[in-house]
Amino acid sequence: MTETASPTSAATSSAVPTFRHFIAGEWCDSPSGRTFQSHNPADTRDVVGRFQQGTAADVAMAVKAAETAGPMWRRTPAPKRGEILYAFAQLMGEHKERLARAMTREMGKVIAEARGDVQEGIDIAYLMAGEGRRMFGDTVPSELPDKWAMSIRQPIGVAGIITPWNFPMAIPCWKMMPALVTGNTVVLKPSSDTPHCATLLVELMAQAGFPAGVVNLVTGAGGDVGNAIVDSPDVSVISFTGSSATGKHIAAKAGAKLKRLSLELGGKNGVVVLADADLDLATDGILWSAFGTTGQRCTAASRVIVDRAVLEPLLERLETRARALTLGDGLVATTDVGPLINAGAADKVASYIDIGRGEGELIVGGERATDGDLAHGHFFQPTIFAGVGAMDRIGQEEIFGPVLSVIPVDGYGEAMLALNQTRYGLSSSIFTRDVNVAFRAMRDFETGIVYINAGTTGAETHLPFGGWKETGNGHREAGHVAIDTYTEWKSIYVDFSGRLQRAQIDNQPT
Ligand code: NAP
Repeated sequence: MTETASPTSAATSSAVPTFRHFIAGEWCDSPSGRTFQSHNPADTRDVVGRFQQGTAADVAMAVKAAETAGPMWRRTPAPKRGEILYAFAQLMGEHKERLARAMTREMGKVIAEARGDVQEGIDIAYLMAGEGRRMFGDTVPSELPDKWAMSIRQPIGVAGIITPWNFPMAIPCWKMMPALVTGNTVVLKPSSDTPHCATLLVELMAQAGFPAGVVNLVTGAGGDVGNAIVDSPDVSVISFTGSSATGKHIAAKAGAKLKRLSLELGGKNGVVVLADADLDLATDGILWSAFGTTGQRCTAASRVIVDRAVLEPLLERLETRARALTLGDGLVATTDVGPLINAGAADKVASYIDIGRGEGELIVGGERATDGDLAHGHFFQPTIFAGVGAMDRIGQEEIFGPVLSVIPVDGYGEAMLALNQTRYGLSSSIFTRDVNVAFRAMRDFETGIVYINAGTTGAETHLPFGGWKETGNGHREAGHVAIDTYTEWKSIYVDFSGRLQRAQIDNQPT
């Protein structure tokens, strides 16, 4: 499969297109003269494209372009900014199938899920387009007569957006849409595993009418491009989604410079199954959450905490259904589970299988999948360990692959403790028919998202998205609260009394 030529790609003599940075409204090569390749993880012989190997110098150019465009963009009325987001959402809708297919090719998730990823981008673009006509502040009474008091939101400046590969279109949109509608300009650095997905998005953004310099794309390694964005004194807000290790590194650097920083990091999401649960429904929810996107969603379920009363029937169902899952290229209609993103990810999963063998009982999977064409990709069998302890490593550490640990407990109290015994706090779920227990879970689970009688995935873009504890640093994406990351509050007092009025002094009894 070869993408049709686009303005982003320089003419090359080979069949593999070369894609460019997007800086100040122009598609351009990196002065480094170096490129890197992006491969199809389902068949690594398929090279998606060559991409610019950016450097700190490229970042400096992009930041300069974003800074230059800043005053014009922040003075563009917010409803007008929203209209451009709206046009972008429409374009994404028109190109949804093309975008989804390109995503499956570049990062492997099955095509239905890739369509869902694009749809999340569309949804957030429409939601944030509407924010252009809301972006409410407060108008409140002053404590003094003949005085007006209100608060408004204002943009922060240049937003550095650093994104992972697992939701390669949704996540850049979750970040860029609120940043842009609130009047910030953007430098996007996508994962080196999915630069094509980001390029396709930025092509559509240019087409939608974002003025030159408002959106800039720099591809290249995290240690170079990402670091340079974080280090740049002219980037005022950083939004990062990725691993906790990288997030901590960025937080230390950004903290030293007192930059606004939003972090969305790792997870170890759990599903609780109680004795009164509908086991067939729970099985559906667990399989979808554990093995969808090959276990590489930030909200993937990697722990099932099950009441011993239903342990055996649940394990039976999970084992039978996991064995029946078909691995393959996500573009093939019969595929249930695609590849892992790269060789490093497959090695990491394999290393946790070794750890898991010493902690639980392997009941299904546990091997790389290499039959036939699978040998050309990074495939791993859906894997389930039974008899895992809540504090075992496979019950605690993020594996980010198709590996599920089943942890037996007795009753809600033990289940709740086991669920919360992790340093992460993104998503959780409980299967029970008891409404009182469901409400206890809503109260007790220490996660940013809680599902009742559903798996751990399925966030909708008009609700806040993000995690407690080491999954983040307290910010939220999506929902109307997403604009908090990208705005400063300004409180404004207008005194029309014509005389000096002193707050806290002139309105007190003498
Ligand atoms: P990652 O290795 O941390 O990379 C994320 C991004 O950071 C990539 O663009 C990467 O660039 C860049 N980067 C790497 N080193 C950097 C540095 N020193 N300075 C600045 N940027 C740097 O994470 P990933 O493997 O792509 O993503 C998987 C992780 O993301 C998992 O832990 C998952 O839980 C998490 N995640 C969390 C959420 C959430 O909402 N909580 C959502 C999705 C994913 P390169 O690609 O060039 O290395």
